[in-house]
Amino acid sequence: MAIPDYFQRNAVAVSQVISGLDEERLASRLEDVCIGVTIGPDAAGDEGRAMADLLVRLLARLYPSIMIHEEGAGGVANEIGALARRINPRIDLSGEATIETVIGTAQPCWKATRTVFAGCEGWTARLSTHGPQGCGASNNPFGAGLAACLAAADVFRAVFLPGTELDGDCEVAVPDAGEGHLENGDVGGSVGSLVLAGAGAIGNAAAWALSRTAVDGSIEIVDHESVDLGNLQRYVLAERDDEERLKAPFVAGGFSGKLTASGHACTIAEFLHEKDHKVDNLLLALDSAKDRCAAQASLPRRVANAWTQPGDLGVSCHDFLEGACVSCLYLPNGKRKNEDEIIAESFGVPDQLMQVRTLLYKNEGAPRDLLVAIAAARDLPLEKLLPFEGRPLRALYTEGFCGGAVIPLSEPGRPANEVHVPLAHQSALAGVLLAAAGVRMGLSGRVDSVVTQYDVLQPQERFQVYPAAKPPGERCICQDADFREVYRRKYG
Ligand SMILES: [Zn+2]
Repeated sequence: MAIPDYFQRNAVAVSQVISGLDEERLASRLEDVCIGVTIGPDAAGDEGRAMADLLVRLLARLYPSIMIHEEGAGGVANEIGALARRINPRIDLSGEATIETVIGTAQPCWKATRTVFAGCEGWTARLSTHGPQGCGASNNPFGAGLAACLAAADVFRAVFLPGTELDGDCEVAVPDAGEGHLENGDVGGSVGSLVLAGAGAIGNAAAWALSRTAVDGSIEIVDHESVDLGNLQRYVLAERDDEERLKAPFVAGGFSGKLTASGHACTIAEFLHEKDHKVDNLLLALDSAKDRCAAQASLPRRVANAWTQPGDLGVSCHDFLEGACVSCLYLPNGKRKNEDEIIAESFGVPDQLMQVRTLLYKNEGAPRDLLVAIAAARDLPLEKLLPFEGRPLRALYTEGFCGGAVIPLSEPGRPANEVHVPLAHQSALAGVLLAAAGVRMGLSGRVDSVVTQYDVLQPQERFQVYPAAKPPGERCICQDADFREVYRRKYG
């Protein structure tokens, strides 16, 4: 079968939405599935090309069989076919589509059981189960990016939840869009300087959108890690050969337009220190609340912050003086477990929390005595754990416990879903929203504290947008007189 060699991580992500699907069952579910991508003549412009590009970047990671067909779209089909093969060199690009996606004004060309029609115009995505949706002629990649994510979500539901209804006809616009809006839905102007913290799944998608935006300015991309095989499950820019490349320069390499990009292979804390803690527009695509709050504490002028978590995803924007800051959203209210507590409990060794915490913090290898203790506590044969000896302890958790290498996915005792692996289209949607927020902030030079949430489980509701105020009392750094004074001094 044509499944990619990073398939195991797909199984982890899918199993969090549909229980009981381990790697083997997922592969067998996909055996008879072929996803068709049909591209119409109006998709030859920037918008249609962008949608086709992102859609294939999402589909080719999960579905081993894809058929691509175009009707006079200027060779887009060949381009994205080659792209699909670079993402999964084993992919099968032949056969009859069982589920078809149609981009732009083409007619379906297979007798598929389900057909998803996708179109876009400027900031708006259009999805339908009834008939073709046109593609606009602007240079705006945001409606196209949104449409690709929503189409991938519909394909996912058609494959894995065949009993459920697709959304039918819907039109969704990027919330609060319109800044820098030129004629015909084009976007232009100068965004000044942007900093993207994190070149993971969300950062990849944000960079995908930003690199296709015709705005002037600069973007600095910061991430100290390298691409590992499991990342290919949901990093939209990553191709199979990109394994082991440093994430920051790799993502920066995707920019060839007016926005000039540079990659910084260091932590965001190191980067901010180097910048003397002065950053105009900071886009946070980080994993942990702790890192987000640390970045906020360095007092950037404006911040946008994206997240995915089980059941929802979104982006929040932050005016430090007037509204909620990033840290306001992550203030502890009640007992929320830390990553180290969750991991120590999954390992069955909550009494060795300090050792687990230290190893995670230093990113050090798992010692033999800890593996022996975990094996005893979880009643596992030690041989299953030994391959992780000397490897970072986090790898034992993500691969061994979340990923099924030690504890099979279908067994009880799965880790709590606080540490989760999102589906590729969920991370991508969060990234596209983050990029839109960054463009808005950069072009206007201002920001309001607003949270935009996309409920994955309530497709009809789509986006919920609400203002975010500071919490009552004076609990947050943004309510502290000293921090506020430093902020004012920095930015006048
Ligand atoms: Zn605050």
